[in-house]
Amino acid sequence: MKISNWAHNTSHDAELISPTSVVELKLLVANYDQIITQGNQANYNDCALAEKIITTKQLNKITEFNPDTGIITCQSGVNIKQLLTHITPQKWLLPVIPGTYEATIGGAIASDVHGKNHYHFGSFTEHVLSLSLLTAQGQIIQCDRSQHHDLLLNTCGGMGLTGIVLSVTIQLIKISSSQLVSKQIKTTSLKNTLLTMEQHTHEDYMVAWINGSSSKEQMGLGIVNLASHSDQDKQTAAVAPIKKPMSLPISWLLNPITQRLFNWFYPFKARYKIKHVDLFTFFFPLNKIKDAKVLYGKKGVTQYQCVFPQEHSYDGILELLLLVKKFKQTMYLISMKKMGPANKNTFSFPLKGYTLAIDFKMDQRLKELFTQMDETVTKYCGKVYLCKNRRISKEVFQKHYPQYVNFKQVKQQVDPQGKFQSLLSQRLGL
Ligand SMILES: Cc1cc2nc3c(=O)[nH]c(=O)nc-3n(C[C@H](O)[C@H](O)[C@H](O)COP(=O)(O)OP(=O)(O)OC[C@H]3O[C@@H](n4cnc5c(N)ncnc54)[C@H](O)[C@@H]3O)c2cc1C
Repeated sequence: MKISNWAHNTSHDAELISPTSVVELKLLVANYDQIITQGNQANYNDCALAEKIITTKQLNKITEFNPDTGIITCQSGVNIKQLLTHITPQKWLLPVIPGTYEATIGGAIASDVHGKNHYHFGSFTEHVLSLSLLTAQGQIIQCDRSQHHDLLLNTCGGMGLTGIVLSVTIQLIKISSSQLVSKQIKTTSLKNTLLTMEQHTHEDYMVAWINGSSSKEQMGLGIVNLASHSDQDKQTAAVAPIKKPMSLPISWLLNPITQRLFNWFYPFKARYKIKHVDLFTFFFPLNKIKDAKVLYGKKGVTQYQCVFPQEHSYDGILELLLLVKKFKQTMYLISMKKMGPANKNTFSFPLKGYTLAIDFKMDQRLKELFTQMDETVTKYCGKVYLCKNRRISKEVFQKHYPQYVNFKQVKQQVDPQGKFQSLLSQRLGL
């Protein structure tokens, strides 16, 4: 059976196994030589692909929730949508929310995902109080900040290579309402976009849309989207139902011409006017479209996401955008987020600075472009994001994540035969 990822940019012949209990899962892990875990395939590369894939989809129970303390325990197959639907009526929220509600809690831990508020709350795993991990040798290890801390730091962001996260305890944050007060600010250049973001760090959430059709001189202009939790207590809005995704499965709809038209029209929508939006509308714009990736055509979509330290963000981002322009590749969606400091995870992606993500339609000609983009990222002391990058080489990876040596030591202790392997880990030599 051919298994792909969310972006439909690669696939692999694989056996997909869906255990219904931890007992069954333990037996499977004991019986197979090589496996990888899959949450909901909401990634852009080959991190959850291998010949044998174990999906946690049926291990999706919320086992404990204390509405007084906001501490929740769930199995790793619970997805973000399920969790938010459970907690927001009681005015609790996940401190960190990625751009898709399809991701599972296990996947959010393995990629240590970030949201539109990294500058306030860091990334997902910083709010994990403890987790239990099923290792290659069949042990279930409880990891937290005081026991098996090293294993925790290598499992969080460890792309599923230390074992299978079974269950997780998370500290939620209290909110006054899940309604957000949002506004948009148009910017005139990359400098202006960065300055606008620096001036609005008091807002709870922030993300910039960059217009990829602008001229060389204006490259980096766009719209900064800001939002903060409303202080009005709107109980009904807090439980606003999730709308059914819109069906738009027409791949020709997205091409360089329609993209230019979109880039021209979209800024007219932006205005400083304050509006109230519900949480799902703000956080998950792509989930509003059923099968959004289908819009990119049969070959799928690929995303290039990287991060630059603060002092190199302007130069690094500008150079990347101009490089893509030189290669005459259409940038379908460009977003930029402000990031806070890195955490202690071995494969921590964030750096205090800015992250840039660009969506491209899959195309063989991207190979040379991406190689040059990698060089630019390295030159400005940045790094690429592991769960988005489909083709980073082992050499570039080792430059961006020099702590891989520490990871390999931990992996050797916990999985000496290399049972947990994916196409990604084989490519990166992990
Ligand atoms: C539209 C879209 C928007 C996104 N926006 C963001 C964003 O804003 N910020 C961000 O950081 N990321 C973002 N992502 C990336 C996404 O959050 C991550 O790829 C996430 O890991 C996907 O979770 P998943 O459960 O689908 O895991 P999968 O995609 O199935 O797997 C991802 C990795 O997690 C491992 N894994 C999954 N479950 C477990 C488990 N139980 N135990 C151990 N390892 C496990 C897999 O082996 C694999 O290495 C986005 C993705 C999409 C498609």
